[in-house]
Amino acid sequence: MYRLVTELFPICRSITGKGVRETLALVQERVPIDIREVPSGTRVFDWIVPKEWNIREAWVKDPAGKKIIDLQKSNLHVLNYSAPIHATLSLGELKHHLYSSPEHPDWIPYRTSYYNNNWGFCLPHNQLLGLSEGDYEVFIDSSLEDGHLTYGEHYLRGETEVEVLISAHICHPSLANDNLSGIAVAAFLADHLSKLPLKYSYRFLFIPGTIGSITWLSLNESEVCRIKYGLVFTCLGDSGKVTYKKSRRGDADIDRAVTEVLKNSGEAFEIREFSPYGYDERQFCSPGFNLPVGCLMRTPHSQYPEYHTSADNLDFVRPEYLADSFTKCLAIIEILESDRVYWNLNPKCEPQLGKRGIYSQVGGQTDGKSDELALLWVLNLSDGKHSLLDIAERSNLKFSAIANAAQVLFDKGLLRQDRST
Ligand code: ZN
Repeated sequence: MYRLVTELFPICRSITGKGVRETLALVQERVPIDIREVPSGTRVFDWIVPKEWNIREAWVKDPAGKKIIDLQKSNLHVLNYSAPIHATLSLGELKHHLYSSPEHPDWIPYRTSYYNNNWGFCLPHNQLLGLSEGDYEVFIDSSLEDGHLTYGEHYLRGETEVEVLISAHICHPSLANDNLSGIAVAAFLADHLSKLPLKYSYRFLFIPGTIGSITWLSLNESEVCRIKYGLVFTCLGDSGKVTYKKSRRGDADIDRAVTEVLKNSGEAFEIREFSPYGYDERQFCSPGFNLPVGCLMRTPHSQYPEYHTSADNLDFVRPEYLADSFTKCLAIIEILESDRVYWNLNPKCEPQLGKRGIYSQVGGQTDGKSDELALLWVLNLSDGKHSLLDIAERSNLKFSAIANAAQVLFDKGLLRQDRST
């Protein structure tokens, strides 16, 4: 995953253009994603797919003719979606088009101007303070033309058509945590799941933020009823604790499954209520869709100083945190895949477990007492109304202990699976 982040890092991405295609091509080397191209001008709900932006060169030369800002040194130097320009300006005029961050004076901030025609450069605040009076030559060789919005989609068919949606944004240039970490975890998860038998079908989206999810929802409105669980992946490679932002519903099964995994991780974590600010969960959870989609991250956007600056780089993201995020995603999927509703076939008083040799079969999981408790809880609540996740929550036992007890009871003929699950 870290290698993929490293390969993706130098690409100058935006919400459309060549950088998106190069990004998807690198993901395609790991996962056979389908590439979709939606023409500029396509109406998608209240939005219109914008003109495609591509950039080749961008620089500023100081009064002595020396290049002092250069896109070649960092993709963040250019205001993303800048219109083309070639002009000579006074320092005062140029300053209207320079963006810096006084709070972090040595870092280049990341700024965009997608939907208003503008141009500009981003630079460290200390560099801005050091600029002397005189004439500056600015050059941005970019194009804003009719083209396409490009996104990637990968569908893994499971036993049923009921779907799990995983979405990651692909529109930020050289930012490692906010963007690339989500792409890497999603790509490797897709590859890993392709080797497993699956109950649910999985749909992975690699889409530009906001306009990508709006476009996808607009094109797939009739299909979204299949989505039973969903996660937006972002900021999954930093050292912070795992944070989960619940879906708008707040009590969707995905919210409960993630909570179950984090609660039993033995590590610090945070669960946040839904808010209509953040990543593409905003669109998936808009009231007309209200899909069960939460957002999985480590440190949330804007809560680490490196966020949207040149310091969100390859040192800020570490392989071990990507791996930890990946492991937690698998644990969440394990719950989704194995959650079931059972019927106790011996509901009148407790069945005699000892004579069936059941205690010895569940023994050794953790400790004998909780194994026995798990059996009793599963037997008691398997009335066709409670899922294994319900039972884990109510008993305060680990989902894995409950699922294991249910399997043993099922094998011994004491449970039958509810057909609808
Ligand atoms: Zn961002």
